[in-house]
Amino acid sequence: MTKMTPLLKRNEQFAASYTPGPLGPPATQVVIVTCLDHRVDPAIVLGLQLADAVVIRNTGGRVTPAVINDIAYLAFLAGQLFSAQVAAEGLFEVAVVHHTQCGTGFLADAGFRDRAAEATGLPDAALEAWAVADPHATVRADVERLLASPLLSPKVSVSGHVYDMATGRVTTVLHDRHPQLAGNN
Ligand SMILES: [Zn+2]
Repeated sequence: MTKMTPLLKRNEQFAASYTPGPLGPPATQVVIVTCLDHRVDPAIVLGLQLADAVVIRNTGGRVTPAVINDIAYLAFLAGQLFSAQVAAEGLFEVAVVHHTQCGTGFLADAGFRDRAAEATGLPDAALEAWAVADPHATVRADVERLLASPLLSPKVSVSGHVYDMATGRVTTVLHDRHPQLAGNN
């Protein structure tokens, strides 16, 4: 008996009625980048079903080099496999979703950050870069960072959103934008 035992029981129920589907583009043609916080599960918050959307999660939902690499590969893959099934103008939309009350917000405080750096061995700059103290500001910065990346396919668009933990509501901060339009907001 481990902590995984009850989850594996749930998987038995899932597998009992599971029907495998063919490899195809995500039904919504959306790639979500969001925080790993267990209260921000996009399947629940955005009503996603299996195979509806790609979800990339990390601390804060930040657009890191690793996330940019993932998106670059996904765009290549979608172009190779699904170009007949997706609209000519766009492979997918990347939706960056940051949230209020993020656990990374504490990292905006230099004292807290010092303790975190000492305890984890992570560099102070890396910890500071995670901090989502104002999700409206960080989501804008991350959308711009992604749009400015030379690795971003011109067939991918990007939007920015904030999930309000108090209301359960997701608000759009930056609408669907394309790489070549970066800076024209
Ligand atoms: Zn968070």
